Amino acid sequence: MKYYDKLIFELSKEGRRGYTLRRNEFGTSLGIPASLSRSKAPELPQVSEPDVVRHYTNLSQMNFGVDTGFYPLGSCTMKYNPKINEEIAAMPGFTGIHPLQPAKTIQGVLEVYAEMEKILAAVTGMSNFTFAPCAGAHGELTGLMVMRQYHMSRGDVKRTKVIVPDSAHGTNPASAAVCGLSIVEVKSKANGLVDVEDLKPLLNDEIAGIMMTNPNTLGLFEKDIKEIASLVHGCGGLLYYDGANMNPLLGKVRPGDMGFDIMHLNLHKTFSTPHGGGGPGSGPVGVAAHLADCLPVPKVAYCEKCGRYTIKRDVESSAGQVSGFMGNFSVILRAFTYLLALGKQNIRLAGPYATLSANYIKESLKDFYKLPIPSICKHEFVFDGLIDDGSAVAEDGHGATTLDVAKRILDYGFHAPTIYFPLLFHQTIMIEPTETESKETIDAFIGVMKKIAEEAASDPALLRGAPHCTPIRRPDETTAARQPILKYKDCR
Ligand SMILES: *Cc1c(COP(=O)(O)O)cnc(C)c1O
Repeated sequence: MKYYDKLIFELSKEGRRGYTLRRNEFGTSLGIPASLSRSKAPELPQVSEPDVVRHYTNLSQMNFGVDTGFYPLGSCTMKYNPKINEEIAAMPGFTGIHPLQPAKTIQGVLEVYAEMEKILAAVTGMSNFTFAPCAGAHGELTGLMVMRQYHMSRGDVKRTKVIVPDSAHGTNPASAAVCGLSIVEVKSKANGLVDVEDLKPLLNDEIAGIMMTNPNTLGLFEKDIKEIASLVHGCGGLLYYDGANMNPLLGKVRPGDMGFDIMHLNLHKTFSTPHGGGGPGSGPVGVAAHLADCLPVPKVAYCEKCGRYTIKRDVESSAGQVSGFMGNFSVILRAFTYLLALGKQNIRLAGPYATLSANYIKESLKDFYKLPIPSICKHEFVFDGLIDDGSAVAEDGHGATTLDVAKRILDYGFHAPTIYFPLLFHQTIMIEPTETESKETIDAFIGVMKKIAEEAASDPALLRGAPHCTPIRRPDETTAARQPILKYKDCR
């Protein structure tokens, strides 16, 4: 163990200080009534400034992030987050505001919301957006609440079922269930696309709608989308678009034009704001014009008469309120900065570059990893494990699995791709390089993946013991998830 791997409490030494405060002007009591002041000093670590800085800097280096390395996690869009976004979000005029301030004192903030709504509407082909949802899954729930509200407001109360493809992101069925809707699964064909023939018999007057991702989680464009849209609309249902990873479509195709009625975006994926670690995120929900009145409140509106932005709080037909105020403003601000920095011309390049990167990796590695669906992909694609997993040469007859490959990648300083998702294959490796990586970085990753394939054939035990160079080796993932050791005393 390195010295600074110690807990900050272990570094503590009685009387040591890491701060300098001015002598207070109120004497020792600070004017706090004796009944409210503590009788015993708090049990805080007593450490010098260098010790504090080293402790936290070392902790931060034990983790992996987009700022430390390439992160090709499929269905996650771990792209680079430009630092200008952070600078703008940290401006005191933005950080110093309070959500209960009168609207007339935060006109600039409300203008950001209004402008952002216009940009996202233009990018997606939707009519209006709410920024209240604080994550992608929260956006799904909000969108489904809008869907239900729409049917209820028309007295169409029988519609309680939502169709979800078997390739869907796990949050889709989960959000439908949380919204009190039941789930009907539609199957994919061997080519990875939704089976329209399987869909037809599922459509009836109990269907509230369908949830789809396009390109889907296999990175394939659902080219039957127009037919699917007319079938679902034909039975009175609505189409929900999961736009968490919209990179491949930016500036090329719009969900609104494909026939979708409701959608969410993940600003913390597609629009370059940081994610991971549980937030804060932002999952704005967009709707077609006929659903605009069902969006949650509060909502920014522009008053032509008074020439000012206002906040609408009571809209009778609204699906309700889904978060404290109007979402995570600082995240929206980062995405706004990103969009303005790129502009209309450059945002159009995100899709082609994301698609090119993914196809380049796919073609470069297909002789080493099984490629179950060989067609051109969009922003991501899946392998189904190694072609030669080394089982022939390993003494005990066990080669290397996808898990072993993923663990070995960490030794080479890259984050592993998504593994074992979607569930359509047994050894899934799902790679999403994004548009922000250089060819050199991508080539280095391809080189590592080839090297690991060779290692799997010659020395599979090396993979099975990986990772060898990370702060934590290979925990038992089930135990780590089910019985995590969260107390200091239990681990020392
Ligand atoms: C990430 C993702 C989600 C969920 O977004 P969160 O912000 O993590 O809740 C939903 N659908 C797809 C396709 C995703 O990739």
